[in-house]
Amino acid sequence: MYNVPANFINEQKIWDTLKNHQKAENAQVREVLSKAREMKGLNLADVAVLTGISDPEMLGELFNTANEVKETIYGKRLVLFAPLYISNMCSNECVYCAFRATNKDIVRNALSQEHIAREVEVLINQGHKRILMVAGESYPNQGFQYILDSIRTIYSVKTQHGETRRVNVNIAPLSTEEFKLLKSEGIGTYQIFQETYHRETYKTVHLGGKKRDYNWRVWSLHRAMEAGIDDVGIGVLFGLFDYRFEILAMMQHIFELEDKFGVGPHTISVPRLEPATGSDLASHPPFPVSDIDFRKIVAILRLAVPYTGIIMSTRETAKMRRETFALGVSQISAGSRTNPGGYEEETEDDPSGQFSLGDHRPLDEVIRDVASMGYVPSFCTACYRLGRTGRDFMDLAKPGDIKLHCAPNALSSFKEYLQNYAQPETVKTGNELIQKTIAEMDGIARQRAEKLVKRVEAGRDDVYC
Ligand code: SAM
Ligand code: SF4
Repeated sequence: MYNVPANFINEQKIWDTLKNHQKAENAQVREVLSKAREMKGLNLADVAVLTGISDPEMLGELFNTANEVKETIYGKRLVLFAPLYISNMCSNECVYCAFRATNKDIVRNALSQEHIAREVEVLINQGHKRILMVAGESYPNQGFQYILDSIRTIYSVKTQHGETRRVNVNIAPLSTEEFKLLKSEGIGTYQIFQETYHRETYKTVHLGGKKRDYNWRVWSLHRAMEAGIDDVGIGVLFGLFDYRFEILAMMQHIFELEDKFGVGPHTISVPRLEPATGSDLASHPPFPVSDIDFRKIVAILRLAVPYTGIIMSTRETAKMRRETFALGVSQISAGSRTNPGGYEEETEDDPSGQFSLGDHRPLDEVIRDVASMGYVPSFCTACYRLGRTGRDFMDLAKPGDIKLHCAPNALSSFKEYLQNYAQPETVKTGNELIQKTIAEMDGIARQRAEKLVKRVEAGRDDVYC
């Protein structure tokens, strides 16, 4: 059913909308910004207006509005996760990726289940609770069962204080039947990036393997949702094509999912092309995205889909990551390795990694930095474990309700991190932040936060509401 052209990505409509709305007067831009403050999302024309902003004064207004919306909905929370690359074997030929099939410059490795367990142990002992499992599109002899076994292995590892409480997955598109099996292993979010929605460009950067099929990929989230996976994540690899086109196309994808399934994506990822071993294109992006445009992309997405999480990976530098927290980012990775086995080996920017990293700091250093900026690092996984996923999550995701759940849970999970894993300096910064944050809360949220944090102080782990 899903091998027909995906007409919901309507390129002509994107170009027409950009042409008609890109050169808006300041008054029009302000109208869109005031609509965005209502936090009900934006339509295609609104988004086109925002992509056309270049005047520094209007950019400043865009950034301020994004910051307002971010603070109202998400407060100061930032959710932490770690990617876990289990295999860099791949049968595709994506010209920007070090894992592409014909690249002879990297060492290939698909981790055994024992090796995966050791990697997970390292991550748990650092304090991580959320793992994003990542793999190339070619599995060892067990085939797809390798993926299912690996998820089971990740959940099975327990150490003194910890375990993985949510496994998200970023792997190649699956059939509906395979998605059902993935769901039965208890995954959180299934993520897949279209890379580029522009069909012509898609063809020129995907030269071989199953990934050449644009339609198979773009329909994959329909199949995932049909299989019962409520939380899906989308993304674009920025740098391959015009970012204005890509944002509008991503909006068309989001509207389509909302229309068909009553709920859009749980997260959006905004990877920017980074240098990768054996790829000239990765070092010379055909459509480079400047730092200012990158911040603009984050701000526009925050306003366009206010309740969808925005993920910022360690592809970006510490500085850029800091700047985008204020604009709308709600989840970040930390201490990442993109080569299979990289956590146990402690390799930094291994040439066999998928791409170069911009932020090499270990988790504890990132946490200390984030906390000293006033953001509360959160390891919370409550929604997923209480079944608040998909539409239920979006229903809960009203500013008031989020404050009643997410803010207390962020503080208790952060307290758990401080007690079990943090360095003394981080403990000090973190405890001060927890006290200050609770002092600024009121009503039920404050009562809940105080109660949960006290339970952690008394030695209980994994408390949430
Ligand atoms: N192999 C699967 C796929 O391609 O969908 C899933 C995992 S792939 C390892 C994860 C993502 O890494 C890709 O979707 C792509 O957007 C991103 N990526 C690949 N090469 C990159 C590069 N040079 N710089 C930044 N991100 C890159
Ligand atoms: Fe393989 Fe994914 Fe890299 Fe493409 S992006 S070569 S599919 S790992």
